[in-house]
Amino acid sequence: MPQTDLPPFFSRTANGDLQIEQVTASAIVDQFGSPTYVYSRAAIESAFNALTDAFGERAHRICYAVKANSNIGILSVLARLGAGFDIVSYGELARVQAAGGDPAKTVFSGVGKSADEIRGALAAGIGCLNVESEAELRRIAEIASEMQRIAPISLRVNPDVDARTHPYISTGLKDNKFGIAIDEALPLYEWAHTQPSLEIVGIDCHIGSQLTDVSPFRDAAERVMKLAHRLAERGIELKHLDLGGGLGIRYTDENPPPAADWIEAIRSVVDADPLAHDLPIWIEPGRFIAGPAGALVTRVEYLKPGRHKSFAIIDAAMNDLMRPALYGSDMAIVSAGRGDGDRLEATWEIVGPICETGDFLGHDRPFELGEGDLLAVLGAGAYGFSMASNYNTRPRAAEVLVDGDTCHEIRRREPLESLWALEQVPPAE
Ligand SMILES: *Cc1c(COP(=O)(O)O)cnc(C)c1O
Repeated sequence: MPQTDLPPFFSRTANGDLQIEQVTASAIVDQFGSPTYVYSRAAIESAFNALTDAFGERAHRICYAVKANSNIGILSVLARLGAGFDIVSYGELARVQAAGGDPAKTVFSGVGKSADEIRGALAAGIGCLNVESEAELRRIAEIASEMQRIAPISLRVNPDVDARTHPYISTGLKDNKFGIAIDEALPLYEWAHTQPSLEIVGIDCHIGSQLTDVSPFRDAAERVMKLAHRLAERGIELKHLDLGGGLGIRYTDENPPPAADWIEAIRSVVDADPLAHDLPIWIEPGRFIAGPAGALVTRVEYLKPGRHKSFAIIDAAMNDLMRPALYGSDMAIVSAGRGDGDRLEATWEIVGPICETGDFLGHDRPFELGEGDLLAVLGAGAYGFSMASNYNTRPRAAEVLVDGDTCHEIRRREPLESLWALEQVPPAE
């Protein structure tokens, strides 16, 4: 396997230890234990700024997709940069508010918003509800009317373009559960236009995640613009175009386009259209901002060399990072620091302590390893901690934000008792 390039803001010290900004992985483990999620603040800011720069003078809003990494420490860094947010539950809205984010700059996506969630979002002054079905549109109109409010809405249309990504994270095909088929959106917009409790503010689409090619983004933008024209012909004016998230990152050997190419692909369609000239473009990136900024640092507990397979058993598992088990994702794993154990060269299965054969973080990784060594799973800043569970009664890992030579513990390791704090032993009889 080729030597893995480290992401920006990750480097090696002279003796080969992994460093996040100016802090070594081993210093982090000494202080906060293992496994621990480590994020580079500079990496988050630089990804956000790359998108901002690509828009230049163009009116835009970057709504960070909270589900990628919803730690309020991360959200606060983005809120300070002026980010908006894309949420998929009321809980995420509450996090945005706890982090100092602005509900008015927040869009609410998701196919199953409950009545309580819609009420809560309207009461908080949500910027836009991205509506995913006719039934949801009717429910929003009713609730807003009861609350004597006007709900800002956008229809999430499904442009039926193939994002050519993993089937579980492809969302823009007509047989996906997401959005409203683009050719069925017009009558719904017309109906919404007649409702006093609804204000049409935009169109929205999100075609999938981990896209490594810009052409589906361009196709989707073209289809969305076509609909915008048909709406304009009917006197329905939009205030923004939301073209979703989905830009991919490099996990192993993918070659995703840089931020500027993504934005350029969108702008090549939108800027050329007189109708959309002054219309702000909104985007909803999650993975691109948080993914490369994070690593899961873990320690080798045991080596179990064998004739057929050799196992390196680490202290992180599928409950900490489920992407490999859930999607079969390949994630780069690099050595992060040496322990005291005898070293052994082999091709390792990198597995966790959980009682499932699916509990692996990597297959066939050639390494010289010793017990006590530290490893880091790279690109783990997005859909890492946010998808973690307590399976096998494993407390979720600590999360640390590195800023230069300083560490901030943005979430402490879960205390064991908290795992059953909400549980009750029933009476004996
Ligand atoms: C998950 C999601 C995103 C973010 O996707 P990334 O691939 O992380 O950029 C954006 N919009 C919606 C509606 C989503 O569900």
